[in-house]
Order: sequence, then structure tokens, then C-alpha cells
Amino acid sequence: MIRFYNTLTKRKEEFIPIEDEIVKMYTCGPTVYDFAHIGNFRAYVFEDLLHRYLEYRGYRVIRVMNITDVDDKTIKGAKKEGISLKEYTERYIKFFLEDIDTLRLKKPDFLPRATEHIKEMVDLIKKLIEKGYAYYKDGSIYFSILKFPSYGKLSGINLNEIKVGARIDTDEYEKEDVRDFVLWKKAKEEEGIWWDTEIGKGRPGWHIECSAMSMKYLGETFDIHTGGVDNIFPHHENEIAQSESATGKKFVNYWLHCAHLLVNGEKMSKSKGNFYTLRDLLNKGYNPLAIRYLLLSTHYRDPLNFTENSLKQAENTIKNYNEFYQGLNICGDEKYNPEIKEEIEKAKLKFKEGLDDDLNISQALSSIFGFIKLVNIYFSKGEFGRRNVDEVREFIEDVDKVLCIIDKKQESLPEEILNLIKEREEARKKKDFKKADKIRDILKEKGIILEDTLYGTRWKKV
Ligand code: AMP
Ligand code: ZN
Repeated sequence: MIRFYNTLTKRKEEFIPIEDEIVKMYTCGPTVYDFAHIGNFRAYVFEDLLHRYLEYRGYRVIRVMNITDVDDKTIKGAKKEGISLKEYTERYIKFFLEDIDTLRLKKPDFLPRATEHIKEMVDLIKKLIEKGYAYYKDGSIYFSILKFPSYGKLSGINLNEIKVGARIDTDEYEKEDVRDFVLWKKAKEEEGIWWDTEIGKGRPGWHIECSAMSMKYLGETFDIHTGGVDNIFPHHENEIAQSESATGKKFVNYWLHCAHLLVNGEKMSKSKGNFYTLRDLLNKGYNPLAIRYLLLSTHYRDPLNFTENSLKQAENTIKNYNEFYQGLNICGDEKYNPEIKEEIEKAKLKFKEGLDDDLNISQALSSIFGFIKLVNIYFSKGEFGRRNVDEVREFIEDVDKVLCIIDKKQESLPEEILNLIKEREEARKKKDFKKADKIRDILKEKGIILEDTLYGTRWKKV
């Protein structure tokens, strides 16, 4: 049974999707006005873990991640450079997609852009006006939060503090500013960006895009909505208000939010200037798999304090892990140690039980690293056989569908090297140690270290 902590109910709940084998999931994506920083990527890595684990457990995941390509920041950025909004956002979308690949994040099935869904947003706003939830003021359109009595159910904000009739035009604001929020912003000559529509000349606010695009691709009620905790209020609270007012149905069953990536105890963010982009770290020579691992290896609901030291430790872990994977080979007789199969079954169960429990990654990882330790002991005692190689490799590759930290580049050895190792095996069998040692030296020069065990010879790349 899979359980997730649901921000809406504030407890862990059994996860039961609406359709038996399908999970519909929405992720708030980037505002494409700059490079994403690794705080953003903490959220995307957590969502990737969730996505991959649901697939590991046999679900087909249909996932949407929006791209905010029109808002105050993108408009400002484009203006500053004197280029079109499209040209400006296109650049950062491209960088974002490259970063996704670098961190091995699964591409969502749909990556809808706000500017390509103006019609859907206008339709939704029209519905809200018709039903009496939205009103015009000075050419802009606002959502009246007092009309939605359960406003605050996600974030737990105190509605008594609402300033009746007060409105807010900015997309991001604090809890102290619980107010009617903007759905549609009247066109401003100086911005130069607007759409001429049935509801007036203007552009959408931020919140409405996620309601319109999620419901377009996933239906009026879907399974999972994710983001960082900073999205809970006002963004997700507003998404619920707009969507449920329009449809009269529950919007989302499970809300999952990750804690922040911190720097010296403070949220990593653009505005504080305390951020690293992925490229900053790659330029410093860090391995992207270590960055992925660092962001993945702390439970998503625990804050994670970023330091370069912790990244160095993650590099070590990735190195050892891949050396283990690389070293999963043995030349020799078809020997087999049945105990290893038992250990695989135990580790597999612990891995699954961990992740089933609200993505308890610490338990999942400790099962894998504990297993590796054991296999290394079997190796050193010479109790790991030719025929154990495949089952262990298969297990590690199977969990890597979730973790995605195997360095595939290093996977195989060239044919000529494998032949040399075999030739040396033959020489050893014939007790021609002179030849065996000579081949060992040749291989060493090529960066291949051999280790003879009772069950056969194992090689490692250095
Ligand atoms: P934004 O582009 O600011 O809308 O952020 C995109 C995603 O990154 C959202 O899900 C945010 O909640 C998340 N996010 C932003 N900063 C952090 C951080 N320091 N730690 C974790 N997630 C973050
Ligand atoms: Zn959103």
C-alpha cells in the first residue's frame, strides 16, 4: 500500500488513484525568465522521484508541467533586452529542457505554455463571472474569495484577517495579504503585451493558468498536484478556489509539497541572490549525477541545507556506487551462491516499503547501500559467482529506474580487453603465472584492475 502525506488533510493517507492503473499528476513548472536554480530543481527532482516510483509500482503516469511564459518577470526581462516576449522565453525554455536532461528528470507528457492557452483561461474566467465568483474592477477581473467559503482549506490561513473588498494585483504575496486576487489584468500600454478577448483586452494572472491547463489535460478532478511549500499559499489555494468554484467538483485528491532547499538556513531564491544554477555547479566541475543524488537523498518534506561539502560527499557516494556497478563482473566457472538471491529479495522489499511510506528515500537508500556492503563482503570472501552477476546487476538496474544514478557511460569494456581477461583466466588455469602476470600488467596500464577471488576474477576500471 502506498501512502502519501496530503497537505490538504494534513496526514498520511493511502494513495488510491481515480482510475485503477492510471495516475494523473500536475506539477507547477518554471517561470522562464532566467535559469532555474537548484532550489527549483529540488522540487523537480522530488517530483521526478514521485513520477518514477509510481511507474515502478506499475502505474501509468500522465503528467503535466506548465511553463509560465507570460508574467511580470518575463515581460520585464524581454523589455529590458528589447526583444519579443517569445524570443526571450524561448531561450529559457530551451535551457530548462537541457537542464531537465542533465539531471535525468523524466519529461512530462505535456509541457503546456501559458501563452498557448489564453482561450482556456478566458473560458474559465467567463464561467467564474457567470457564476458570480469573479468581478470587474477598473478593467481587471478579480476572484472574490468570500464567495468560496472553504477558501483557506489547503494553507490553513485565517480568513478573519481578510480585508473585505481589498484586492491584490501581484501574483505572489504573503499570508498577511489574503485578498481578492487577480484573474485577468487589464492591458497596460507600457507593457505592450495583451490579448484582445471576450473578457477584455489584457493578460492572465498567474494562478488561472494552472487551473486552466491542468483541467484541460487531466480533467476536472485529478489525482496528484505537486510543488514546493512556497506554492501552497497563495498559488495552490487560489487554484483550488478557481477550479472548484467553476466546476462544483473537487479539484485534486492529493496535494504533495516539498520543503525548501536552504542556504545557511534561508530559502534558496533568486530574490535573495543566494542561489546556484545547475550550470554554476557544472562549471565548477561537479558531476550532475551527484547533484541529482544530493537533491534526491533527503526526504522531500525535510528541509535540505545546501553546501558544497555535502555535494562533495554526494560525489563520493556516486563514485562508490558506480564502482560497485562497474565491478559487477566475474570471469570464471559458472558458480552460484544462493544466499545472494535471498539478500536481493530482502533489499527489494525494504526499498519498496520505504518508498511506499510517503517516499521514505532514506530507508530505500539504506536498503540498497546495505545490500552493496553485503555483496562486497561476499566478493571479498570469494563467495560471489559468475551466475550471481546477472541477478545483482538486474536488481541494481531495476532500482535505478527510480534512482537514476548509474553512470551508463562507463558500462562496458571493449571486446579486446574482455578477451585479454579471458586469456589470462585460461593462463591461470594452466598455471602459466608468468603469462597471467604479464596480461595483468598490460591491463593495469589500460586502467583495468583485476582481483582474483575463489570464484573467479573480477575487473574494475580506475
Ligand atoms: P518558480 O519558478 O519560482 O515558480 O518555482 C518553480 C518551483 O520551484 C516551484 O515548485 C517552487 O515551489 C520550487 N522552489 C522554488 N525555490 C525553491 C527552494 N529553495 N527549494 C525547493 N523548491 C523551490
Ligand atoms: Zn501552478
